[in-house]
Amino acid sequence: MEIQLSKRLSEVGRFVPKGAILLDVGSDHAYLPLALLEQGHIERAIAGEVVEGPYQSAVKNVASSPLSDKIEVRLANGLAAFEPSDQVSAITICGMGGRLIAEILEVGKDKLTTVERLILQPNNREDDLRCWLQDNGFGIVSETILAENNKYYEIIVAEQGHVRLSSHELRFGPYLLKDKSAVFRTKWQREWDKLAFALSSVPEGKSAEREVLMTKMEAIKEVISDVS
Ligand code: SAM
Repeated sequence: MEIQLSKRLSEVGRFVPKGAILLDVGSDHAYLPLALLEQGHIERAIAGEVVEGPYQSAVKNVASSPLSDKIEVRLANGLAAFEPSDQVSAITICGMGGRLIAEILEVGKDKLTTVERLILQPNNREDDLRCWLQDNGFGIVSETILAENNKYYEIIVAEQGHVRLSSHELRFGPYLLKDKSAVFRTKWQREWDKLAFALSSVPEGKSAEREVLMTKMEAIKEVISDVS
């Protein structure tokens, strides 16, 4: 049975290099590595999962796949799912908060020196994740943003390297900021609307609180209102 990936995971898959040995961290059903194996896109995979229930779902799906000899499911916390002898060349970490992804990378960072590419899909706090990458010798080489089921998802692709990002780039994404796609503009307009709503309920007397919200709103307006 061919696996139908969500638009979000299909987009993530596009950034996995062809022929990669992939570790998918937090691989609850092992859908992403199984689909990439089916497509002949990757050579081998490890599906890592820390929680027993999702781990068992992944084990079950892998066991019923004709490609089960090319993928191992491991019950492990973050990057503890692989050893240097696995020769992992690419890592995907998707569907978690940006801070949790950064924490997973931080805990296992000594193992990342031989990994060529990270493909990360944080559900929030993308700025914290970009900060971690910048502070730990990873440069962002590509980004995309998509909407699915009324949610916005950013995908951040990083490789070994040093690129200094401005505070604007850390917040909005260096490539996303250059593209300013329609999806990007809609996401940030929605954020602006939320902040405006929050501001409307802060009393005039609480000027420090109002200032914080207004500064955030101004930065967003500056970015989305310059039609280039
Ligand atoms: N990656 C899939 C996706 O994007 O559709 C599943 C996302 S699901 C919301 C997050 C999964 O990550 C859960 O199954 C959770 O148990 C797992 N997870 C959370 N922290 C983890 C960690 N430190 N190591 C491995 N798996 C983790």
